[in-house]
Amino acid sequence: MFTIDFKDKLFVVTGGNRGIGLAISTAIAGAGGNLAILYRSSTNAEQVAADLASEHGISAKAYRCDVSVMKDVRQTIKAVVQDLGPIAGCVANAGVATVKPAIEIEDREEFDFMFGTNVLGVFNTAQTVARHWVETGYKNGSIVIISSMSSQIYNQVGLNEPLCHVFYNSSKAAVSSLGKNLAAEWSRYGIRVNMVSPGYVRTEQSGVHPEEARRFQAASVPLQRYSEPEEQTAQVILLLSEHASYQTGSEVFVDGGCLIY
Ligand code: NDP
Repeated sequence: MFTIDFKDKLFVVTGGNRGIGLAISTAIAGAGGNLAILYRSSTNAEQVAADLASEHGISAKAYRCDVSVMKDVRQTIKAVVQDLGPIAGCVANAGVATVKPAIEIEDREEFDFMFGTNVLGVFNTAQTVARHWVETGYKNGSIVIISSMSSQIYNQVGLNEPLCHVFYNSSKAAVSSLGKNLAAEWSRYGIRVNMVSPGYVRTEQSGVHPEEARRFQAASVPLQRYSEPEEQTAQVILLLSEHASYQTGSEVFVDGGCLIY
């Protein structure tokens, strides 16, 4: 039997104010960890941080930061360390999704938006935190990247009807590869990098799909349903903790069995 105690440890969670990120922030706070929640534009983030702090007796603060802009990330992580102290772990969760048939895409705007957040945003976050660890000589850093089962497969919303997630799915394949490469490069600094790749999760991101599409998707899952955001947190918490001290470069699928083959 083991316990996870994050008391006096600080974790950065990008997109930690809603959806899967909020469930992760809540789980970290539940284990006693302090939180720096990075968000893009929502108005609820400061309240979320204040509520988690008072409910769990931890320190938590929200920072407005566009992870796709390196300068923004650098300034934010500097402020986080000044305000809350050294960072123990990082969850690069922030991501965006758009649905459009590939044949209709006009220019690179869609590509820049998706890859800018889902790939470059993860790199910007992970690299800035890794530099902080290298500079301070911290040897137990753990980075968890929230990728997706669509790093491996394309999704259908009906029989032979693709969801039209061309840049989303390819950005997730890219970020899973990015994470494995960072794991290989940064093992020399004692930094572990792992991916947690959800299947269908009930959040605002997946809520944009029509009811019929969601029913089809749920029926295609061996466990026959969408996941709740909270069901994605156990693997993240484990990978952040020292119980996973021998695990790096792995991609853990929390997908209700979608990738059974
Ligand atoms: P949501 O749309 O519910 O939340 C997205 C979060 O990311 C928000 O907190 C948002 O901030 C933040 N964010 C988006 N862009 C930026 C940016 N440029 N800079 C900083 N923060 C940003 O998403 P989910 O909770 O559904 O998804 C979380 C992660 O899980 C994503 O990476 C997603 O791709 C992945 N995933 C989701 C699945 C699902 O079915 N929902 C399935 C598989 C993977 P703000 O609130 O300010 O907009």
